[in-house]
Amino acid sequence: MNTLFLAITAIVLVLLLALVLRPLQEDDEPRQEEEDKRISPLLRGINYLLSDEPDRALQEMVQVARLRSEAADVYMALGEMFRSRGEIGRAVRIHQNLLARPDLAKSIHLQAHMALARDFQTGGLLDRALIQYGKALEIQSDHAGALEASLRIREQSSEWQLAEELLSRLERVRNESYSSHRAYLFSEMARQCLSQESRDEAATYAARAIELDPACAPARMVAIELAMAAAETDKAVTEIQALRSHANEHFSLVIPQLLAHSDFYDNRGRELLAEMWRQQPDAELALSWLEALARERSADDAKVLYHDLGFVPATLRESLRLQAVLGDEGDAHARFSRQWRKRAKNYVCEQCGVEVIDVRWQCPQCHSWGSLHPKSEEKI
Ligand SMILES: [Zn+2]
Repeated sequence: MNTLFLAITAIVLVLLLALVLRPLQEDDEPRQEEEDKRISPLLRGINYLLSDEPDRALQEMVQVARLRSEAADVYMALGEMFRSRGEIGRAVRIHQNLLARPDLAKSIHLQAHMALARDFQTGGLLDRALIQYGKALEIQSDHAGALEASLRIREQSSEWQLAEELLSRLERVRNESYSSHRAYLFSEMARQCLSQESRDEAATYAARAIELDPACAPARMVAIELAMAAAETDKAVTEIQALRSHANEHFSLVIPQLLAHSDFYDNRGRELLAEMWRQQPDAELALSWLEALARERSADDAKVLYHDLGFVPATLRESLRLQAVLGDEGDAHARFSRQWRKRAKNYVCEQCGVEVIDVRWQCPQCHSWGSLHPKSEEKI
């Protein structure tokens, strides 16, 4: 049995004991008999639990809950127990039955909608989860948990406008400012508009994101893309320089984008990157440039650039990356380096510590925005 299940079972048992034992203090005989009926399944339940038979224990606890039909909290705890065991269908039924009761207190009503929403969310039924969070918000419009959970679902479904509305409500409820989070939502809107060829809208959203958070790299990358696509060379150069000064740790991500616009790269981009390298020769710039050039053009182009830059790797990681780009096809070390490069986790989340291969603007584990940074390594 897992620990969570044991913990929830223990809570249910305490609740049941409290409920069942309380009336025993009054000692009139008919009630005594009634209570005996209630205690027997509970004791059987405990017995099954101690003998590591959780399914039979659960059956007995359901029986106790039935005998104490007014005990909404017992049902709530049972629902939690079923969900934690992955039995979503049973958890849903318990919470739906509870909500069908006409005499339910408002606070329990709220809790039951939240629990049902979590059941649906755990089962991947996001639309139905949203409806239940919405019902919880109808009862208590400033319920931060319901707002936060709905926001997460909207983000998961790439419904950025709706996510932004929820973020505003959360800001008001918590009386805090989430401007960086909002900037990332606007940058996602900008990216979405760009992919749908709505360039004016994309530009507006990117500008709003940059205004809120000048270090919002994905918004700056949209602005760069728009300028290059419109052949506005000077504007593109200004935007690229702004990315370099405001979000340098993510600067290298723009290099493949520059190479994709070959006219811009040949006429201005190459020289711009070379100037940046001369001003501040950082390994990430050189390696990403070499990698992108080998991919978009040829390994020979990358070799020429390598000699032009005069780059020398200073860590094992840098050395492996360089070998993956420049190593010959037949060389076993180069093959190993290429395999390593495909699987190497290059980004780490400052909030939860999760490591991922490619950059994500929202952490896949803790859902924080802008929390993934390139992994740093000590110099050899
Ligand atoms: Zn994280």
